[in-house]
Amino acid sequence: MYNEIKLEFDAISVNEAFARVAVAAFVTPINPTLEEVADVKTAVSEAVTNAVIHGYDGMQGKVRMHCILEDGLLHIEVSDQGKGIANVEQAMEPLFTTRPELDRSGMGFSFMEAFMDSLEVESEPGAGTVVRMKKNFAVKQTQADGE
Ligand code: ATP
Ligand code: MG
Repeated sequence: MYNEIKLEFDAISVNEAFARVAVAAFVTPINPTLEEVADVKTAVSEAVTNAVIHGYDGMQGKVRMHCILEDGLLHIEVSDQGKGIANVEQAMEPLFTTRPELDRSGMGFSFMEAFMDSLEVESEPGAGTVVRMKKNFAVKQTQADGE
């Protein structure tokens, strides 16, 4: 099956919950395991939290979430037009955070990497950040098969 959604929402923290639920609903037709759903929700939650907290940091803005399902392969793109990241390689290191005063642990990108099959981050200071993730879902028999 092929399916695609694009969502755009305000960069405020209540929308982290919205994005988590939306991605869970999006993958439901391929009959995911509870663990697969939990992994994707966590990864989306980390990416959206980063856009809200670091990208916009209290400024007004929009976060976009673009999801594509191609059979059992899920592609997710979370993007913001916030302040961007000067050094992406450093930002992706475990425990690296620019906001220790906010009790951030610097583990968001590490969780995204651990719970998804691939993670790519593209960012430009002053222009924003795009986080691309993929996850392969175990093949199961679903009602959608044969449609
Ligand atoms: P945690 O996710 O554990 O609460 P954290 O958000 O600081 O802490 P990561 O999610 O790994 O850790 O992000 C690392 C750093 O990358 C952040 O501290 C921030 O400087 C930068 N960063 C991440 N996402 C963005 C973004 N969308 N826009 C700007 N900077 C970002
Ligand atoms: Mg984070």
